[in-house]
Amino acid sequence: MLTANASWLALSLLTGLCLGSVMNMVVYRLAATILRDEDDPAPALNFFWPPSHCPHCGSAIRWYDNIPVFSWLVLRGRCRDCGAPIGWRYLWLELSLGAWGLLCAWLLPPGLDWGAFMLFGAWLLALAWIDALHRLLPDLLTQSLLWLGLLWHLVSDRVALEDAVIGAAAGYLTLGLLYWLGRWRYGFEVLGRGDMKCLAALGAWLGWQALPPVLLLASLFTLAFALWHIVRRRAHRRSEFPFGPGLALAGLVFLCYPLLH
Ligand SMILES: [Zn+2]
Repeated sequence: MLTANASWLALSLLTGLCLGSVMNMVVYRLAATILRDEDDPAPALNFFWPPSHCPHCGSAIRWYDNIPVFSWLVLRGRCRDCGAPIGWRYLWLELSLGAWGLLCAWLLPPGLDWGAFMLFGAWLLALAWIDALHRLLPDLLTQSLLWLGLLWHLVSDRVALEDAVIGAAAGYLTLGLLYWLGRWRYGFEVLGRGDMKCLAALGAWLGWQALPPVLLLASLFTLAFALWHIVRRRAHRRSEFPFGPGLALAGLVFLCYPLLH
């Protein structure tokens, strides 16, 4: 099952780095659109306009400054025009999707399943990132991820389509039930509505059988993250933590799990 040669690994790594660059733009523009103040006189962004620019000085980013990872390292994380820091977070998504590309090439030969794995990683890592930064799991990403999963199972036999459809519904209902119980019992939202849609998407990709272990692992990841922050005194016991990154990591683990046997 594990088939990889150097050129396939390199091609998949490059694809991952480029996907990371695209998803960086998606995360930035999607968050800016959703969080935009209605009264803001500046024109709203969309995915195609304006062209990539420095958020600090507004100067357009040249094509040779837009090469994933490489440009960031050459410019040492600063804008070529004004010297404002670009921030390591742009590097993070590119590097993590590059690593995901390597893993996918190690697990799979070129083909449809590899493409599906790459898209799943791109969507989930972008969701994890946008949730960690802004406490948002945008519908545009969670809903499209769900449909991509169902469409994949139409043409691939990795998960039965029935299991995927039941997984989507069960994922939504499980966290939906928790959400409403929490509101009824404690009077506040114990988790976000985006979390239900994200688990529904994971159910569509992994099948309903994967939902209990995914939820367990996602909770463990979130708990570990929370404890780490509390130990480092960056948070206290009543702080809120996003669940999206834990769900995303658990989803990635369980997508690869059947291939590791
Ligand atoms: Zn600048």
